[in-house]
Amino acid sequence: METGGPPAVVSKKTSLTPKAIIYQRFGEQACYKVEEVQESTQNECPVLAIPQKGPCLYRCCLQLPEFSVVSETFKKKKEAEQSAAEMALEKLGINPKTDNPATQDPWDALPARLSYLFSNEFLSCLHPLSGHFRAALQRKGHLYGLVPISVLSVYDAKLGGLFKSINPKVESDPLLIMSLMLKVAPRLAGSVSTSEDQLSMQRENPYPPEIIQTVVNQQSSSPETILIGAIRIPCSNEKTVEPLALNVASNDYYLDVIAQELGFTDASKVLVSRTIGKASSEMRLYFCAPKSYLGDLSSGVLCSTEAVYSKESLNKRASYLSGHLIHGEAILASIGYKWKSADLSFEDVSLHTYYRILIGKIPSGLYKLSRDAVIAAELPGEFTTRSNWRGSSPRDLLCTFCRQHRLSEPVFSAISNPLESLPESSGSHKKLKVSESGNQVINEIGNDDGGRKPVGSRETFRCEVKIFSRCQDLIIECSPTKPFKKQNDAIQNAALKVLSWLNKYFKKLDMPIQELTSYGNVLDIKFDSELLLREFALGISVFTFWQSMGAQEGSVLESICINQLNGKLGDQMRHINIEGPDSGVSPSNGSLVCIVYSIYLVTEGEYMKELIESSEEFEFEIGSGSVISCLESVVTQMSVGQSARFHMELPPKELILASACDSSRILPLLTSGGCSLECSITLLRVTEPLEDRMEQALFTPPLSKQRVDYALQQIKESCATSLVDFGCGSGSLLDSLLALPTSLEKIVGVDISQKGLARAAKILHPKLSAISDATAPSKVIQSVLLYFGSITVFDSRLYGFDIGTCLEVIEHMEEDQAHLFGDMVLSSFCPRILIVSTPNYEYNVILQGSNLQSQEEDPDDKTQSQSCKFRNHDHKFEWTREQFGRWASDLAARHNYSVEFSGVGGAANTEPGFASQIALFRREEECLKNVDVTHNYEVIWEWSSNT
Ligand code: SAH
Ligand code: MG
Repeated sequence: METGGPPAVVSKKTSLTPKAIIYQRFGEQACYKVEEVQESTQNECPVLAIPQKGPCLYRCCLQLPEFSVVSETFKKKKEAEQSAAEMALEKLGINPKTDNPATQDPWDALPARLSYLFSNEFLSCLHPLSGHFRAALQRKGHLYGLVPISVLSVYDAKLGGLFKSINPKVESDPLLIMSLMLKVAPRLAGSVSTSEDQLSMQRENPYPPEIIQTVVNQQSSSPETILIGAIRIPCSNEKTVEPLALNVASNDYYLDVIAQELGFTDASKVLVSRTIGKASSEMRLYFCAPKSYLGDLSSGVLCSTEAVYSKESLNKRASYLSGHLIHGEAILASIGYKWKSADLSFEDVSLHTYYRILIGKIPSGLYKLSRDAVIAAELPGEFTTRSNWRGSSPRDLLCTFCRQHRLSEPVFSAISNPLESLPESSGSHKKLKVSESGNQVINEIGNDDGGRKPVGSRETFRCEVKIFSRCQDLIIECSPTKPFKKQNDAIQNAALKVLSWLNKYFKKLDMPIQELTSYGNVLDIKFDSELLLREFALGISVFTFWQSMGAQEGSVLESICINQLNGKLGDQMRHINIEGPDSGVSPSNGSLVCIVYSIYLVTEGEYMKELIESSEEFEFEIGSGSVISCLESVVTQMSVGQSARFHMELPPKELILASACDSSRILPLLTSGGCSLECSITLLRVTEPLEDRMEQALFTPPLSKQRVDYALQQIKESCATSLVDFGCGSGSLLDSLLALPTSLEKIVGVDISQKGLARAAKILHPKLSAISDATAPSKVIQSVLLYFGSITVFDSRLYGFDIGTCLEVIEHMEEDQAHLFGDMVLSSFCPRILIVSTPNYEYNVILQGSNLQSQEEDPDDKTQSQSCKFRNHDHKFEWTREQFGRWASDLAARHNYSVEFSGVGGAANTEPGFASQIALFRREEECLKNVDVTHNYEVIWEWSSNT
C-alpha cells in the first residue's frame, strides 16, 4: 500500500513514551526547559585552580499547569526530558505500563496505597486529595474526620489506576468503585475504618495534635464565605439547566455544601465525575448515588450496579457531558484542591460555559468555537489552502472531537502515489536542492533561462483516516480517492470529510442507517453501525435540538437567493439593507474577506435588542462554505466600505446561549418566542484569490484585462452583433463590453453560479441605465440577458450567435466535462466564432518563481516549491500547450471548424509560451440547421433597451 511514500503520519500507538503521555494530557501546556549542567571535575583536583570541564550534561525542568518537576542530569537532552516526564507521571499517579497488569497485584497494592493516604505524612503534603483530609478535620460532630469514599479514587490517580486494573468498567461508572472500595476496607482493619453508612472512611487513631495544628486553619471565629457560580442539571431533559450559587464558608467542607444543594445532609453520598473540558480544568459533575443503591450498601449487600440503573434515574445530559453514568440531579462546578497550595481553588461556571461544552461536542460546534463565532460560522465544505483557512485545522478539530468523546486519537495514514509522477523531462531541468541549513530552497539553475524552475514531479497524496474506540475497535474509516498535490491538503480534507459526516450524524442522531450509509458513500466513509450507536447512544437524547437546525439554514439561503434573483434590481434587497457607495471592490470565489459584525437578538417589533456576538475583524474565505450561507450570500453582494443589515431565523437556543455572555438577559427573551437575529456587517477588505493577484501583479495590463482586450479585438474584426459568454461568472467581460463602442446588439451570459450571476446583474444594471444617455458608448445594445444553467447542456435560445466566448472556464470543469462542452458548443450552439482561453500549465513555473507566490507559501512546507501546483484551488486541471492543442484540434476537425492558437501574457515564440492560451475556432460552413426549441436555462435577469 505504501510504495516508498512517507510513513504513516501518526502511527497507531503501541507503547507511548512518558513524554507522549504528558502531551496527550496537557498538549502545549506542558513546558520543557532543558539546561546544560557543566559537570566540573574541580573537586577531584583541588590543586588546580582552573575548573576543568567535564562532559556536558543536561537537566530538564518540566512545568505543568499544576506543578513542576526537575530531572536528574543526563548525557542527552532527550533522556532528561523523558525522565522529567516520567517523574511527572509518577506524581500524577499515571503508570505508563498499566496496560501490563503483571507488575503488581492490585489487591495488594490497594491497602498499601490507602494506608499511605491516611498517614500523617500525606495530611501535610500538597495533593488534590489531601485537602479533603484536612477539610474532614473541620467537619462537625459525628462527621469529624470522615472522608467520603467517593473522593479517594477520584482525586488519587494511583488509586484510580489500581481500580481500573481490577475492572476497566470503573472508568464510566463511579458507583462501581464504591463497591470495590468496600471490599478492600476490611484489609485495613485496625488503622482505617468505614463509617456506619459505609460511605466514608476515617482513621482509627487520631492524627497527632501538632500535625493537625499545622494543617488546619483556625480562623473559625469569623468564617469568610464565598459564592461560587455553578450549574444545576436536572435529571429530566424537559427541565431547563439553570445557574446556582454555592455558598461555601471557609470552614465548610465544600462537598457538604454541594450535598445540601442536591438534597442530602452530607458529602458522603456525593459522587464525583472525572474532569470535563481542558486538561487542567477542575470542572466536574457532582451527583448522588441512587437511593436504592445506598440502601444496599449500608445493609452490606453489594448488588450489581446495573440492577439499580433504572432508565428514569439516568441524567442523560450530565452523563453525556462527562462520559460517566450519572443519576439524578447533577451539579456542574469547578472547584477543588490543587497541587500548588492548600487553599480551595474554584472558578465560576456559567450557563455560557455549560452550553459551550455542550455544543463543543459536535463537529460544527467545535469549529464555531475555534473561530470564536458560534453563530457566524458553519463547518466549511472543503479545506482549500492553509493560508485561507481560519480557526483550528480540520485535523485538530477531529482530534479534539475524539478526545471529547473519549475515543482513541484518530489515525491518519498519508499515502504517496509516485506512479502519477511525470517522467523527468530532458536535460535543461536540474533538480532543486534543499539546503542543509534550513528550509530555504536554492535554485541551482543559472540566470540564463530566466529563473525557470522545473515543472517537477506530479507526486500526489491521499490520506486515510481511522477512528477507533477506546478499546481500539475500528468505528469509522475514510479512504478518499481524490489525490492532492500536498500531503497536508490530503490529510486536512480527509479529516474534514469525517467531520462533515459526523456532523450530519449529530444533527440527526436517529437517522436511519441507510441514509447514513449513503451519505458515507459520498464521502468515502465506511463505518460500523453497531459500534457507532454504542459510542454515541447517549447523545441521541441530548441533541434533539440540532435537528431543526439543518433545515433552517437551507431555508434562509433559499429565501435570500430567490429574493436576489427574482426581484427587479432596485428592490432586490428587500430584506437586506446595503448602505454606502459601491467602491467596485467586491469578493468573488476564493477571496478572503474581512468584516466587522455584530449579531443581536431582537424581539418582534424590535422592542428589545441584546448583543449576542460581535467582532471587529472577522476573516473568511468566500466559496468554501466557511460561514453560514446567508452571511456569505450577503457579503458577496457587497463592496468594500459598504454596510449591511439583515435578519436571520433563530438557530437553536443552545447555540445562542453558547455565544452570548450574558445569558440572564438573553434567556427570558429566547423563551418569550417571536425573536430573530439581526446581523450588522461592514465589509472592511477583500483579498483577491491568488490567481487574480498574480495576474494583476505580474502582468501589465493585468492578464484578465488582456483576455478581454483580445475578445474585443475579435468582436471588432468580425462585426459581430450577438455574443454569448459561456461561464460569464460575475460578468467581467460583459461589463467591459458595455463601456466600449462595439457592433453588439445582443449580449448573453450563462453560468452555473447563482452568486456570480447575482453579482453580474448588480454590476450591469447601473451601466445599462446610463445607456439611455446620449453620451453612452454602446447605444446599439438592444438586450442583455443572464441565464442560469450549465454550458454542457443545450438551450436553443443561444443557437447560432456570432461570437461565443469561454474565458478561463473549462479548467473549472472535470476534464470529461470540458470535452463534452467542446462537442456541445460546436455541434449544437454553433457560434460563428468561438474563443476559448485556459491557463498554460507550463507557464506556472514562472508564476511560482515570483516573490508573490512564495509569500503565500507555507514556510514549513518544503514540498510545495518542488511540486507544481495549479493557479487556483478550484481548477480541476491545467493543460500544457500540447494538451490544449490536441483538445482544440480534435474538436475543430470533428465539427468542421478551423482553429488558430494564440494567447495573452508572454509570447508565442518564447518558452514556455503564453500565460493564458487561447484557441479561436471559426465555423467553416453556413449553419442553417433547424433546431428544436429546448429551454434548459433559467432567465435570471433581463434588460432590454425598450423598457
Ligand atoms: N469567464 C469569467 C469567469 C471565469 S471563472 C472570467 O473570465 O472572469 C469560471 C466560471 O465558470 C465560474 O463562474 C463558474 O461558475 C463557471 N462554470 C464552471 N462550470 C460551468 C458549467 N458547467 N456551466 C456554466 N458555467 C460554469
Ligand atoms: Mg480559472
